[in-house]
Amino acid sequence: MVLGHFAVAVAAKPKAPEVPVWALMLASEAMELAFLPMVALGLEGITMAGYGQATINAYYTHSLVGALIIAAVVFAIGKAVWKSERAAWTLGLLSMSHWVLDLVVHRQDMPILPGNLGNLPLLGLGLWNYPWIAITIEILLGLVGLVIYFRWASEKSQLDSRWYLGPVITAVLFVALVLSDLPASPLA
Ligand SMILES: [Zn+2]
Repeated sequence: MVLGHFAVAVAAKPKAPEVPVWALMLASEAMELAFLPMVALGLEGITMAGYGQATINAYYTHSLVGALIIAAVVFAIGKAVWKSERAAWTLGLLSMSHWVLDLVVHRQDMPILPGNLGNLPLLGLGLWNYPWIAITIEILLGLVGLVIYFRWASEKSQLDSRWYLGPVITAVLFVALVLSDLPASPLA
């Protein structure tokens, strides 16, 4: 799902032009960045399998409340670094967009409260049960994100064609992400 999250990140570039794309991408994956130390601490975990087949325990970072807390932290960092409400909101919303996209693809493994406190129903619409549909939607998201990013660059490029460098590198990255997903897809 990295592609889907990065697609939203580059689509947000025109909203916060002062924020580099790598920072937008980090914001869109902030929940995953928080997940890594939690795995190291043994509080969360993942059993790797093919595309969309992983068994995930992310009861803290991927809980609704956990996601809101992480988005608030990203907002605060964005505000401190770029001194702009708009940049901070863009980064905070990007962080929260991760939870929304994950909600669509995850099987029912996303709690509302951290640690699944109170044993409330687990959330997840389970699009990963249909990996080819999930990956097709991800690719479409990637294309939409690239179009938005290229159009933004084309407005800037009247000044300097180097504005296209970012979108071109992003396009190469997106192709690599698709290729890395494909061999592990349901054909395997
Ligand atoms: Zn995630």
